[in-house]
Amino acid sequence: MRLINGKTRLYCLIGDPVQHSLSPIIHNAAFEKLNINAVYLAFNVSKGNLKKAVDGLRSLNVAGFNVTMPHKVSILSLLDRIDSLAEKIGAVNTVKNVDGKLVGYNTDGIGALEALKRNGVKLKGKKVAIVGAGGAGKAIAFALAQQLEKFGGEITIFNRTVEKAVWLEKSLTETFDVKVKGLKLSDLNLKNELKNVDILINATSVGMYPSTGKTPVSKNLIKPNMVVFDVIYEPLKTRLLTEAEKRGAKIVRGVDMLVYQAAKAFEIWIKKKPPIKEMFKAALRTLKSSKEL
Ligand code: NAP
Repeated sequence: MRLINGKTRLYCLIGDPVQHSLSPIIHNAAFEKLNINAVYLAFNVSKGNLKKAVDGLRSLNVAGFNVTMPHKVSILSLLDRIDSLAEKIGAVNTVKNVDGKLVGYNTDGIGALEALKRNGVKLKGKKVAIVGAGGAGKAIAFALAQQLEKFGGEITIFNRTVEKAVWLEKSLTETFDVKVKGLKLSDLNLKNELKNVDILINATSVGMYPSTGKTPVSKNLIKPNMVVFDVIYEPLKTRLLTEAEKRGAKIVRGVDMLVYQAAKAFEIWIKKKPPIKEMFKAALRTLKSSKEL
């Protein structure tokens, strides 16, 4: 049991809703393991209260915080500095208080790439399909494009609202020297495009609890030589991942991204190697014990 005293530093999450977030569990497990005198809490902050909340966090000299929906974009105008990748993405999920200045980062995309890397997936020259161009899809697409610019490779983005996929194609090709295509999410487009894809990433909420019977990509389109990564972490294994595994594909789970994006935030705040094993244990214990799964 950690002792809370006058020197305890506060880290927190702001968003709406935050009650079911795993961030307090993951970060407190890390603080405990490394014996860091800090605590992580979650605060429900409605849209209209964001500025007041950020002013309050500044006044209280809070050490750092995470930002979740609906504030990931609107927080940008309230910060003092924004890291270049977060600026390109146009969304922030991690803020560090550096001598009173609030600096914004985005660790979602980096967390996704780390999840692929730790599962032995190489990106060099790969053809990647991202289904979904919402917050998660955008962050992954930017982090991926930054990598593929160095290594070579291609990205195809599918989205139900095609305008978002087209916008993402435009901003990625303007920012990075990488081949990107943005398409409408349809069975025909998936059928035509997934033929030569090496890595398929679901960044939509299709298949997330409680709609666990749904999948964004038909199992017939999954090939044994594909890597299939689902960013959804509730359930731990989505229908997409179950079907991909049955087809012989390698799978990467959303919980990996969840833990690695938290680990990256921890590294930014604490400047120490995060205790990944403990962070995983805490996340998995909570997800497995959740009655709803
Ligand atoms: P978001 O910004 O609201 O985007 C939702 C995405 O899902 C959009 O692309 C949306 O398409 C698509 N979508 C929703 N319902 C659909 C349907 N019925 N058919 C086709 N497409 C549909 O949400 P987000 O923040 O990106 O989150 C997406 C998922 O990622 C959630 O399940 C979230 O829990 C998960 N996530 C996981 C992590 C992690 O660390 N593992 C991190 C962030 C998010 P439209 O644009 O057409 O609406």
